[in-house]
Amino acid sequence: MRDVCIVGGGVAGMATAIFTARAGLDTLVIDGGESILARNASLENYPGFPDGIDARRYLQLVREQASTAGATFELGHVTHVEPIDETDLEAGFVVETDGGEPLEARRLVAASWPDSEYIVPLDVGRIQRGSKHLVDVDEAGRTAVDGVYAAGRIAGEPHQAIVAAGHGAKVGLAVIHDADVNFYHDWVAPEDYFTGRDREVPPGCEEIDDDERRRRDERARETILEAFADPLEDEPTMHPSVESD
Ligand SMILES: Cc1cc2nc3c(=O)[nH]c(=O)nc-3n(C[C@H](O)[C@H](O)[C@H](O)COP(=O)(O)OP(=O)(O)OC[C@H]3O[C@@H](n4cnc5c(N)ncnc54)[C@H](O)[C@@H]3O)c2cc1C
Repeated sequence: MRDVCIVGGGVAGMATAIFTARAGLDTLVIDGGESILARNASLENYPGFPDGIDARRYLQLVREQASTAGATFELGHVTHVEPIDETDLEAGFVVETDGGEPLEARRLVAASWPDSEYIVPLDVGRIQRGSKHLVDVDEAGRTAVDGVYAAGRIAGEPHQAIVAAGHGAKVGLAVIHDADVNFYHDWVAPEDYFTGRDREVPPGCEEIDDDERRRRDERARETILEAFADPLEDEPTMHPSVESD
């Protein structure tokens, strides 16, 4: 039984995973294909990259970050989700994929643009938009069914990567809150920031000394330099209706 299963390892799902895994929740991401962002030719409006970034490189980096945070990954297209016990949603959900064995998770996050068919049996409530269905959520990403959430484009957020990432993070915080994890903020603060004021370091926060700060900066620079050293061979995925030569 996982604490949280995130369906969709795109922009929103990875952001959710980074937050829930860093909060200590056993987090599984199931992804059945590729993020729609893989169709982008150059991602130029994501804050932090002054001249933009290759979208495929961004997806690699965010996946690496979720993995470093402790999330695990399964390849597979989720086809069906149902409660383990109809009368007690606290018991969690069974998640079926088109491949391996069914998986169990206490909480489920749909971050699976554009597919939400697999949660129809749960009666979460969906809104039709053209040929697509959005999942009906409250402002924190909770659906009408306890323990089931939706994040990113599938939850009706604007079709932009930074918005999907921000919404994924917000939904991750709702999951952490509902899981009763002792949590204040996910912050890394310099030594003495709290303790220098005779305050306990709040749950979810960490104080690090200057040596550790420099170690982390060095590791971060190595990771980024290596990731950006060479151009990627992968090309943008074309829209399926455009004919290739
Ligand atoms: C051509 C193009 C260019 C774009 N350019 C930009 C841009 O420049 N700037 C910008 O901000 N945004 C851009 N976008 C939009 C951006 O890509 C999306 O808004 C963003 O990726 C949405 O994030 P998401 O996590 O909701 O969905 P996605 O990133 O698409 O992630 C959804 C994931 O769910 C998986 N999935 C779906 N169904 C299932 C299932 N049943 N089981 C398991 N996994 C499943 C998919 O495989 C996918 O990996 C562009 C989009 C396109 C198409």
